[in-house]
This record gives sequence, C-alpha cells and structure tokens, in this order.
Amino acid sequence: MAESFQLRLVDAYMLAPTVRHLVFERVDGQPLAFQPGQFLQVHFHYDDGTPTKRSYSVGSVGDGASPVQRIEIAVSYVEGGAATKLLGELPIGGVVDASGPYGRFCLQEADTHPRYLLLATGTGVTPYRAMLPQIEKLLAGGDREVVLLYGARNETELLYGEEFEAFAQRHPGFRFHGCLSREARAVPRPGDRAGHVQNVLAELGPSAERDIAYLCGNPNMVDAAYAALQEFGLPVRQIRREKYISSR
Ligand SMILES: Cc1cc2nc3c(=O)[nH]c(=O)nc-3n(C[C@H](O)[C@H](O)[C@H](O)COP(=O)(O)OP(=O)(O)OC[C@H]3O[C@@H](n4cnc5c(N)ncnc54)[C@H](O)[C@@H]3O)c2cc1C
Repeated sequence: MAESFQLRLVDAYMLAPTVRHLVFERVDGQPLAFQPGQFLQVHFHYDDGTPTKRSYSVGSVGDGASPVQRIEIAVSYVEGGAATKLLGELPIGGVVDASGPYGRFCLQEADTHPRYLLLATGTGVTPYRAMLPQIEKLLAGGDREVVLLYGARNETELLYGEEFEAFAQRHPGFRFHGCLSREARAVPRPGDRAGHVQNVLAELGPSAERDIAYLCGNPNMVDAAYAALQEFGLPVRQIRREKYISSR
C-alpha cells in the first residue's frame, strides 16, 4: 500500500553524462516495501508555489521480496525540467517528499511463459535492475529464458550495462543485448546489436506461445515495440507497458 514519507539523499553519482543515480534512505528510518517494477512519486512545488509530482522507478536490488533500506533511482536530464533541477542539484543530506510504491509493472508468479522479452530505453531499464533477484529465481528452474533488449544511442548511455553483462555471464538463461542506435561500442561485444530495440525483435522471432513482453521507457519506443509485438501475434495481455511520460 502506498505511503507518504521523506527521503534523504545519502549517495549520488553520474551513471552517464546526463543521468544521475541517487540513493535515498527514509528520514523515519523505515525500509521501503516495494515490488520490483514499481515506482515512487517525488512531490515538490513549482517556483510559483503550485504543488506537483514526478514518478521514478525504484532500481534498488534487494532480494526481490523484502523491504529495502537504500532506495535507488536514476534520473535522466530533461532540458528545462522542474524535477530535473530539483533532483539533479540535490546535495547529499538533502530531503524530498515522496510517496509510493505505485504501479503494476511487475513480474507475476502466475505467468508460465517460457521466455520473457524485456525491452527498455534510457532509465526505463531501472525496473529490470530491481527485478534481477526475481529473474534469478525464475531462471533457477532451468526451463525459462529472459532476454533484455536495451536501447541507447551509444555505449555511455547503457545504464547499469556492466551489471547486466555480469548477470548474463553468471546465468546462461539470461541474454543481454545493448541495441545501439547511433554509435557502435569502441570494442564491440557479442551481445551488441545495431539499431532500435523494436527492430532487433525480429531476430528473436517473438511468438504468442513462447513469450511475454515488458516494455519500459520512452513512449515512442513503447508504442513502436507494442505494435511490432502485436504483428508477431502477441495478444495484449502478454505485453506489459510502462511509459515514462511527464506526469504533471
Ligand atoms: C511510471 C513512470 C516512471 C518514471 N520513471 C522514471 C525514471 O525512473 N527516471 C526518469 O528519469 N524519469 C522517469 N519518469 C519520468 C519522470 O517522471 C519525469 O517526467 C521526468 O523526470 C521529467 O520531469 P521534469 O520535471 O524534469 O520535466 P518537466 O518539467 O515535466 O518537463 C520539461 C519539458 O520537457 C518535456 N519533457 C518531459 N519529459 C521528457 C522526456 N523524457 N524527453 C523529452 N522531453 C521531455 C516536457 O514536455 C516539458 O516541455 C517516469 C515517468 C512515469 C510516468
């Protein structure tokens, strides 16, 4: 159930030239109970005093079930953005009002499909980072496969790319494809693909019998991938979507 609380920034660093990773703890010292895939809302005021809020996916990697003490989000820089300014400039020790968790963009125990197709662009990969412990459990049975197609313009924008690569090395059932739309990696890796995530889908041959798909991030990518997956025959109930639209 969603609660309201204050968050104090305890650590922050640049994940990419225009993305800041922020680590918060609740000011009341309580851990945050959330399902991987859910998001928080940060509440603040515009300069004229009008209240507003923005949503951010929780990227904390816990055990997939227990509450977490460290609440991690990744904030992408948006030109002229009000929350960008607040969260981009928040100093260590700074406090923001927040509420959550919200959302149903989560892995479901009832799903029995043999393959998961996870698609993301930009900070849309954050929920999948939080899902890694659940994905590990899914893969432990040996009869499931998870493929992450992650779209970015170049390698510096592949957020948490090394974490996903390392996870893929440890788990043969997990494949990670960095889909680079503008510039190939200086030293290309076997998983790399050129182009947008929705174009790389064809290589995987999505099918209604095998796949369940999750799409997260830029609304244009989510719409394009949704249309592509439907053309491959996936019914709407097998395509879960989280669009990072501005929530003013
Ligand atoms: C469920 C959900 C989860 C989200 N999770 C994340 C997350 O994990 N990380 C994250 O960085 N964002 C996330 N977002 C988006 C986030 O909530 C804000 O919309 C974003 O940070 C921009 O807020 P802002 O106040 O800086 O910009 P605003 O003040 O809202 O916008 C400034 C200007 O930029 C335009 N604009 C807004 N967003 C974009 C964009 N993405 N690209 C180009 N132009 C834009 C606006 O139309 C406006 O003209 C999520 C959104 C949703 C709905």
